[in-house]
Amino acid sequence: MNIRLKKLGFFSVVVILLLILQSGCMYNQNEIKRDLFALNTIINITVYGNKTTEKVLDEAIGRLYEIENRMSATISGSDVELININAGKIPVKVHDDTFFVVQKALEYSEITDGAFDISIYPLVKLWDIGSYTRKVPSEEEITKTLELVDYKKIKLDVDERTVYLEKEGMAIDLGGIAKGYAIDEVKGILKRGGIKHGIIYMGGDISVIGSKPDSTHWRIGIQDPRYDNEGTRYFAVVEKSDRSIVTSGDYERYMEVDGVRYHHIFHPHTGYPVDSNLMSLTVVAQTSIDADALSTALFVLGVDDGLNVIEELNEIDIVAVTKDKKVYFSKRLENKINIVKDDYEKRLFE
Ligand code: AMP
Ligand code: MG
Repeated sequence: MNIRLKKLGFFSVVVILLLILQSGCMYNQNEIKRDLFALNTIINITVYGNKTTEKVLDEAIGRLYEIENRMSATISGSDVELININAGKIPVKVHDDTFFVVQKALEYSEITDGAFDISIYPLVKLWDIGSYTRKVPSEEEITKTLELVDYKKIKLDVDERTVYLEKEGMAIDLGGIAKGYAIDEVKGILKRGGIKHGIIYMGGDISVIGSKPDSTHWRIGIQDPRYDNEGTRYFAVVEKSDRSIVTSGDYERYMEVDGVRYHHIFHPHTGYPVDSNLMSLTVVAQTSIDADALSTALFVLGVDDGLNVIEELNEIDIVAVTKDKKVYFSKRLENKINIVKDDYEKRLFE
């Protein structure tokens, strides 16, 4: 079988999607940048400030590592590792951060009828997309692994701050939501530190603080899901201030086997990478945790079911790109989005 790894997600996100059109120097503030690697992805933070801003940035970055150390499934001693090791044995007391994120994740499981499910980890490990041991598992393996995937078997004790996985072999993975939480935390620290303008980029997740220093909106590029390293990396630009914009797609981590693309977002009911006729789904929201969980969940649900979910929620806008390059977006974005590539076709939801 000819298995070819096309790319690893975190290598593919190096390039800047952000269109920062003017330097802050004009506004008596310096542009200060930090680049780092955490939570399995490349992170760029750009803010406008002065000397004290460096200290605020240090604090924000320290917080990022703290969250990573608590929520990574692969870091030894993390809350998530301990929860997973103790599946079917005992409830595990966790930090408030982890408790909050798991609680949020379960809320999203409820409102998406299980499309978002952090107990997906046994499937993630079975397929192992993005690693050299990747493979298309057998039907038997998938059926057996699916028995371990069920968010209803994740039990929280609010008073004790414990998380318990009811069945041995179960395991959770916060990869679809933790980055969003981390961005919100970073943003909070930067804002409390007096920063009024900035942009945080973490893989496919972006959040902007305020407007650009010249008071106009930030212009945020949405990645072309079929970008082949030629020309412009984004197919659309959204103009927004003080918002989080998160994209999930079939291009971030995937492998091709016999012409079929297998990517890293799984349907918790089938055990296979989701095929909802989408290449990517972007959520624009007030917080990154909501945008992150929802972009993954709505990518699983597809456009029609996804729209039913967001109707119930406040101020959530989406941009969905189908496999035939039609771009559906929420009405509220009509004057905020520009398609910049001719092969993508703008469509409003009915
Ligand atoms: P994102 O890039 O935010 O869409 O998250 C994708 C990551 O979330 C994957 O790499 C998995 O770790 C995890 N994941 C995959 N499928 C699901 C799902 N249906 N629900 C929750 N998390 C998932
Ligand atoms: Mg996500």
